[in-house]
Amino acid sequence: MSDRETAGGLIGLVQDYVNTVDLQDGPEELSSPNTLKEWLVARSLLEASAEVGAQDLKHAVALREAIRCVIGANSGTSVYPVDLATLNEAANASRLRARFGRDGKPRLEPEVQGVVGAMGRIVSAVFAAMAEPEWKRLKLCGSTSCRWAFFDRSRNHSSRWCTRTSRLNHAPPGPGFRVTYRKRSELGSPTNDPGANESGVCGGGGGGDPDCCLRVLRPDI
Ligand SMILES: [Zn+2]
Repeated sequence: MSDRETAGGLIGLVQDYVNTVDLQDGPEELSSPNTLKEWLVARSLLEASAEVGAQDLKHAVALREAIRCVIGANSGTSVYPVDLATLNEAANASRLRARFGRDGKPRLEPEVQGVVGAMGRIVSAVFAAMAEPEWKRLKLCGSTSCRWAFFDRSRNHSSRWCTRTSRLNHAPPGPGFRVTYRKRSELGSPTNDPGANESGVCGGGGGGDPDCCLRVLRPDI
């Protein structure tokens, strides 16, 4: 994924968590209790001595998908009560409490340790990230089979699809969009093309040669 689609700080942490799985093509980073533990410990969300079980993994994945749905609101999709309940349950179970740090700034911190506490820290990150003005730029790819979380740096916040080059099965362009084909050599790499909302290897026009051109989706303006 290109840097222009990656957020920093707490929004970036939330984005990273949601993107631990590629729903369309795989892989799933949170494939076992061990990989969940590694992910959380690497980000100082969990103590290295903590035990992580299968049920923890189930909760972590459920929380991740609930967060994905909440991000979807920035792309105009619905947030369901079950997702909000999942977030609220994680907040309650970890007993999030307001604390003021040495910097004088407030934050939510869990009273519970272990994976339950780590899930609380993720909810806390979502809570703080949503208060940032840039939150609205964190969106889900408009392809219903992709739903990758990307950071929309376009000037008018108009991006609807992630730009990963492996996307061959994104939804067809809706009204107001057109598909154009350009030679790969004209683009350099697809992520260097600021006008591209979606890129993939073209399926035709070049005799099946995957290096022939790139499919580029553009606003029809
Ligand atoms: Zn996508």
